[in-house]
Amino acid sequence: MPFDRYNRNIDYLRISLTDACNLRCVYCMPEQMTFRPRDELLSDGELRRLIGLFGAVGFRKIRFTGGEPTLRSSLVDLVRHATQTPGIEAVGLTTNGVLLDKLAAPLREAGLRSVNISLDTLDPEKFRRITRWGKLDAVLAGLDAAAQAGLRVKLNAVVSRGTNDREDVVALARYTLDQPWQVRFIEQMPFGNNAEFQKRSMVDEAELRDVLTAAYGPLELVNNGRLDGEARLYRIAGAPGCLGFISPVTKPFCADCNRLRLTADGVLRLCLLRDNEVDLRPLLRGGAGDDEITVAIRQAVFEKPWGHGLEQHLIPATRGMSEIGG
Ligand code: SAM
Ligand code: SF4
Repeated sequence: MPFDRYNRNIDYLRISLTDACNLRCVYCMPEQMTFRPRDELLSDGELRRLIGLFGAVGFRKIRFTGGEPTLRSSLVDLVRHATQTPGIEAVGLTTNGVLLDKLAAPLREAGLRSVNISLDTLDPEKFRRITRWGKLDAVLAGLDAAAQAGLRVKLNAVVSRGTNDREDVVALARYTLDQPWQVRFIEQMPFGNNAEFQKRSMVDEAELRDVLTAAYGPLELVNNGRLDGEARLYRIAGAPGCLGFISPVTKPFCADCNRLRLTADGVLRLCLLRDNEVDLRPLLRGGAGDDEITVAIRQAVFEKPWGHGLEQHLIPATRGMSEIGG
């Protein structure tokens, strides 16, 4: 099993399949975003090879993300490959849901069990403003298809002050009253040259819980506060679903971090919010054997930094969220 120098068991790999996206969420990327040329992205063959090596090293969970992972035409095949890889016990997907309508059933058939769908508001006009050109109906159709296909659903909402920090949060939380879903609220994180906007409009967990308590009454802590992934869970009294709070800014969960990230261009990112990286692409394309790549993976795990430096005002500078995958 892979352990880092702080004795954390690192067994979860998040793989970005592309840096491109069919939306332009204001907190994530500029409208005029340029994406990497195709030949800089790992090929399907390179991804399959790495997934096998990570499984052999002791990684147990893989999540596909992006950019927008559903833009990659081989997504279903890659999910099937990952679910059949020895050692990999769970495969997840994080998507904006726009293309999920048609993909949910084939993904389920390929072995996917759960999906995280990003949805910041149920107001169509506001959704268009946040995503710059997205259509809410497409995401709602994707959400419906995911539930119909039998996928476990988690909704992720990034909350921005003055945009979706009041009635939108309350409306999203209402899903948990009749669905067994997790609705999770994420503190906005600062990246690169968008950092000032992101910091200014971040809404913290404590404030959101007050908003939700005012609407639904006291929230019950679930699992005695033990984290589910990165989320602390609460429940509205009697609700089948849960509310989750992912609070990397005000309640960092670095001590429990178990993940590495692989960017679409083949770089291992050792912490979401630090720029430490290990580039695997030169190895993959330079003829390195499996042993050599395995050593690089183990070394990267060992060198994973303890945690982020937001409190010391250290903001990641080299890549934005869409180039890492969240
Ligand atoms: N396109 C897919 C999606 O939106 O779900 C996957 C990639 S996206 C980068 C992954 C997650 O990161 C989404 O839930 C998105 O809302 C979140 N995200 C993007 N920028 C963020 C930021 N600055 N702070 C916190 N979360 C952010
Ligand atoms: Fe695209 Fe996801 Fe970023 Fe929105 S959050 S722009 S959907 S990558």
